[in-house]
Amino acid sequence: MLPFLRSDLTQLVAYTPHPGGASGTSEASAETVSERPIVDPLDTNENPYDLPEALKQKLAWAYQETIAANRYPDGEQRGLKDAIAQYITESAHLPAAAISAEQISIGNGSDELIRSLLIATCLGREGSILVAQPTFSMYRILAQTLGIPVVTVGRSPQTFETNLDEAAQAIQQTTQPPIRAVFMVHPNSPTANALTPAELDWLRSLPEQILVVIDEAYFEFSQRTVVGELAQRPNWVVLRTFSKAFRLAAHRVGYAIAHPQLAAALEKVRLPYNLPATTQAAALLALNHRQELLSVIPQILEGRSHLLQALSANPALQVFPSDANFLFVKLQPWVAESWNLEADAALTQLFQQLKAQGTLVRHISGGLRITIGSPAENQRTQARLTQILPG
Ligand SMILES: *Cc1c(COP(=O)(O)O)cnc(C)c1O
Repeated sequence: MLPFLRSDLTQLVAYTPHPGGASGTSEASAETVSERPIVDPLDTNENPYDLPEALKQKLAWAYQETIAANRYPDGEQRGLKDAIAQYITESAHLPAAAISAEQISIGNGSDELIRSLLIATCLGREGSILVAQPTFSMYRILAQTLGIPVVTVGRSPQTFETNLDEAAQAIQQTTQPPIRAVFMVHPNSPTANALTPAELDWLRSLPEQILVVIDEAYFEFSQRTVVGELAQRPNWVVLRTFSKAFRLAAHRVGYAIAHPQLAAALEKVRLPYNLPATTQAAALLALNHRQELLSVIPQILEGRSHLLQALSANPALQVFPSDANFLFVKLQPWVAESWNLEADAALTQLFQQLKAQGTLVRHISGGLRITIGSPAENQRTQARLTQILPG
């Protein structure tokens, strides 16, 4: 290791977006001739549909006619903040102007906002964070790159509800440094469960010196949100993203909704021109055409219930309920036995065989996380699982 690098970085590895998966999804990226190319990328919970052609043309027009490539983008992002504030208010059925631009900070993906929140609360040994495993991996990864300690607590193996006794104890007992931020996903990834009333009550009971981060990356699928409570809770922040329902993963844009003073702190720590002009144009376009873009959600949810029903009928699988655009499934213990493998090796084998047939899923936390795709993709997911698994 180079002698000028921070010693704790030796323990970290660079993030690989598709662990064990393909580097791309086109035919040319097929790794070997014996494997089919990945045609169904169901490992990152994106919306299966690209922007409609007409909107892509509008975006191309915006680039040609309204964006000067030699000029820095709008560093204040006022227009996009106003549009986001309006969308949040409308989609949460709040009174007009309940959320204002002063409560918004926009990130280069919500990943950037996670990092900004960590910098604004815990950096320099001022705080540790608390997460309930399994959950979105980025909280831990980003905390580690900043030298911020991560305290983990468990979840119920049946419902994936946070072990609240364990969480309360962790908060009481962690002192070096104390817990300054709790990260929760609503609904959680990879387990797809929304926060329960008990979990929400516990989060409400936390003292004001602890920041509560509620990541609503899947809001448009779950229709569950706590933004209506933000006015009473200065220590809460909601994260959202354009990468999932809004079909803009390629553009990298997410936002935080918080007390104006917290939003101002996020603005202080972000890079001045974190959002390229094309990204701002794309996000504005998506919001202006939100009805059209979000109109595929009922069909995705219908696909989810079909796939859930079909996979639940498979005796080899344990399928969990979902409030998001993905399913979390586990193998029944007898499957590993019948394959003469350890439990995790059996999952690896299933993952590999699905991949060899062209369906890429996420092997994580003792299960598989499978994105709901187009009807054809879901049909292939079902058929391939049925073919691989013993009946
Ligand atoms: C996908 C996802 C995000 C989105 O991250 P971006 O950086 O906005 O693409 C954030 N949180 C969770 C829990 C996610 O699953």
